[in-house]
Amino acid sequence: MVGRSARYGRGRSLMGGKAKWLIVLFLVIGSIVTYCSSSSINPITGEKQYVSLTVDQEIALGLQSAPEMAAQFGGPDPDPQDQSAVDQVGQKLLASTEAGDTPYEFQFTLLKDEETINAFALPGGPIFITSALFDKLQTEGQLAGVLGHEIGHVVGRHSSEHIAKQKLTQGLTGAAVIAAYDPEHPSSSQQSAAVAAMIGQVVNMKYGRDDELESDRLGVRFLAEAGYDPRAMIDVMHILADSSQGPRPPEFFSTHPNPDNRIAEIEAAIEAEFPNGVPEGLIK
Ligand SMILES: [Zn+2]
Repeated sequence: MVGRSARYGRGRSLMGGKAKWLIVLFLVIGSIVTYCSSSSINPITGEKQYVSLTVDQEIALGLQSAPEMAAQFGGPDPDPQDQSAVDQVGQKLLASTEAGDTPYEFQFTLLKDEETINAFALPGGPIFITSALFDKLQTEGQLAGVLGHEIGHVVGRHSSEHIAKQKLTQGLTGAAVIAAYDPEHPSSSQQSAAVAAMIGQVVNMKYGRDDELESDRLGVRFLAEAGYDPRAMIDVMHILADSSQGPRPPEFFSTHPNPDNRIAEIEAAIEAEFPNGVPEGLIK
């Protein structure tokens, strides 16, 4: 028996008619269902979110990525005193906040890199600060501000959310490529794929800014709970902004999209935390 594919060629029979639209429909529905079924309530932020990894998977992914991440910034700083200062402030934040009650395996590492001003968190708990940023900080509270913000990214499960969103975007992009595929003009599908990818990027960028604001708010909360003056977080923003004028602007801003209203949002979070004003005697 001679099938359709033998008569018209495989590509045309699969992609030409109703079959194409069934594949598109299947991909769109499949991606959306996968995304929506990944919803859960975050116990720290109380918000509903879509995540694609379990907590155990986040921890495994973070631990596996940590050595490579550290190596990119010269590896751990050899100064044991500075290293333990970072660890002590990190542990202090965990000891008196909800972040410490989570299953995440936090590690606080000072990295050797003296040029790159940055701090970052991997899913599941590894947190890093470069010597370049560490050296710019003037108080313990400011160090707590940086670490508290990074702890916020971990407990906010921002990487896991990002991955879920990427998967959704990839699924929809795949559907768009097939929908745009015209067997008579095979190259026209490339353009719509590029457009779909760009839309995905824009979606992710906006998302990053929301993550920053959420991490700032969580940072303020953790600082206050651990006995630090949360206004140290505003000092950190000024220090980063001042460094932007220098020869090596902070890489922090490229990995942490910087919302314009950031300081105003931090001030609002501080006011929410202390409606009657920040009390005296907190650690600066
Ligand atoms: Zn951040």
